[in-house]
Amino acid sequence: MAYKTIIEDDIDVLVAGAGLGGTGAAFEARHWGKDKKIVIAEKANIDRSGAVAQGLYAINCYMGTRFGENNPEDHVRYARMDLMGMVREDLLFDMARHVDSAVHQFEEWGMPIMRNPKTGSYLREGRWQIMIHGESYKPLVAEAAKKSADKVFNRICVTHLLMDEAKEKNRVAGAVGFNVRTGNYHVFKSKTVIVGAGGASNIFKPRSVGEGAGRVWYAPWSSGSAYGLMVGAGAKMTQMENRIVLARFKDGYGPVGAYFLHLKTYTQNGLGEEYESKWFPALTKMVGKEYLDTENQHLSHKPIPTCLRNHAFINEVNAGRGPIHMVTMEAFQDPHLEEIGWHNFLGMTVGQAVLWASTDVNPKYENPELTTSEPYVMGSHATGCGAWCSGPEDISPPEYFWGYNRMTSVAGLFGAGDAVGGTPHAFSSGSFTEGRLAAKAACKYIDDGKAEGIVVSGKQIDDRKEEIYKPMEHYKIFRNEITAGSVNPNYINPRQGLDRLQKLMDEYGGGVTVSYMTNEKLLNIGLKKMKLLEEDLEKIAAEDIHELLRAWELKHRHLTSESVLQHTLFRKETRWPGYYYRGDAMKLDDENWHVLTVSRRDPETGEYTMEKAPCYHLVGEDEDK
Ligand code: AMP
Repeated sequence: MAYKTIIEDDIDVLVAGAGLGGTGAAFEARHWGKDKKIVIAEKANIDRSGAVAQGLYAINCYMGTRFGENNPEDHVRYARMDLMGMVREDLLFDMARHVDSAVHQFEEWGMPIMRNPKTGSYLREGRWQIMIHGESYKPLVAEAAKKSADKVFNRICVTHLLMDEAKEKNRVAGAVGFNVRTGNYHVFKSKTVIVGAGGASNIFKPRSVGEGAGRVWYAPWSSGSAYGLMVGAGAKMTQMENRIVLARFKDGYGPVGAYFLHLKTYTQNGLGEEYESKWFPALTKMVGKEYLDTENQHLSHKPIPTCLRNHAFINEVNAGRGPIHMVTMEAFQDPHLEEIGWHNFLGMTVGQAVLWASTDVNPKYENPELTTSEPYVMGSHATGCGAWCSGPEDISPPEYFWGYNRMTSVAGLFGAGDAVGGTPHAFSSGSFTEGRLAAKAACKYIDDGKAEGIVVSGKQIDDRKEEIYKPMEHYKIFRNEITAGSVNPNYINPRQGLDRLQKLMDEYGGGVTVSYMTNEKLLNIGLKKMKLLEEDLEKIAAEDIHELLRAWELKHRHLTSESVLQHTLFRKETRWPGYYYRGDAMKLDDENWHVLTVSRRDPETGEYTMEKAPCYHLVGEDEDK
């Protein structure tokens, strides 16, 4: 293959993927590493990459401590409740105690944050959410990262991490990938790597297929690379079973937070009835009163967990009383709220506004339909998938601490945003904050001499190059054997592979077509088929550089998916009804499963080992404010 090899050497901090997490990492690395070489490698262009690419209308994680609103402990209690107890409280607390300063910085950099003219405090949508004019959120934050980094490599699809071949086998040494425009092979030799790549959309079959494909809630370009890279390198993962299902406006995936919290809209079934509370008595029997405290719903630190609200929605629809509508007709009579309702989408989900306009839905005169989405694997909304990372030295118990904040179980490999497990409700601001925390720790790791003597052989670099371009070689050799259309007995193409993965995850892993239901038998069949798919992915063919990108995205999605199935099989209970159901263990089981799940995939053999890790509650209960 004629593609050039371009080597970037002597990097101190390599940021792989620069959404909000990665930009935070680059920014903070410069503060602690004045003379360090900081490099960003990003699949798109950091001005418009990651989940915040198209803008946001709210920052969903802001304590407001300086306005006397919340303290970090409050946020831990809230996120813990929402996730049915399963969070890393050390990491959450650490993020929450620093997040406000990140938001203040965004404002200094030019982000318009709406303020209450009377008090001067930020205008709130809900207890944790503040309102912004955030169409340009990402370019603005990217500017800070660009000024901090020595070099930014845009259009690089990072495919693998490089590993140290000296004394320590389990130490990172950089990363490799290719330029999605030129095709050139890029090698980044680095003392540390901060993975800020994204979570995964499009691993479960989406509701919209065919001409609607790509119409999904999370960024369609989020290919699970955060997990693909780390799982592939043998990093331990946690809570990968904790996929998220979102209640969203139908087909446009417009978010509901601003509507529920600010516009005070509510839902009803197809008959115009309130339905949610009907499902709660039976649900309380499934999960226990501790997790569904209907008597104290009015207390804002005892919210109905997101998954349980989904549960009522899903069951009402399955009982034949759909569709579920969002009652907008009342709020939209107020011209101010009507404007906010539209602005909310124009600032972050233009597609929803366009869809309503093009299908004659005026929410002032018609209550729009909601739907529950296909599942997503990510770690920064109301879910906490990701790597098993060390917490900070001052609050983490020994099982959660191994020297450097946000470092994975691979030395020198750090995570931020979707990459870090057990830290839900970080959203954009919390992800940026996590990047900052990871970068500070990465600089200390280098200063402590932990990255000395790394060896990367030419063989490792050459082997990876051969592996990366293999789909193009395969295509060249076999393309003349096409039997019909795109059917070739010697290979599958990335689209065919993705369809197969999505069908498999949907039917065996608990997607939409089975109403989020799975069980041990189904998961074992799914895992067997996943291995067969892995064999066929060795023979994937890429017609051009664009298909090569799709091929590697698919391989990352595959690694992510296998991890999800392994974790779902391991946790023998239904912890989050409304996200998924283990039909063979339909109850929440605190006696056996009040634990965090931790996995490791052996990079040599592909075999998984699973273990339980303690789920410590470090923050006590408190009275509501
Ligand atoms: P979303 O717009 O759904 O992405 O959510 C934005 C924020 O609002 C997140 O912090 C959600 O957890 C929160 N949220 C969304 N819906 C509700 C609800 N019905 N009750 C409480 N919080 C919500």
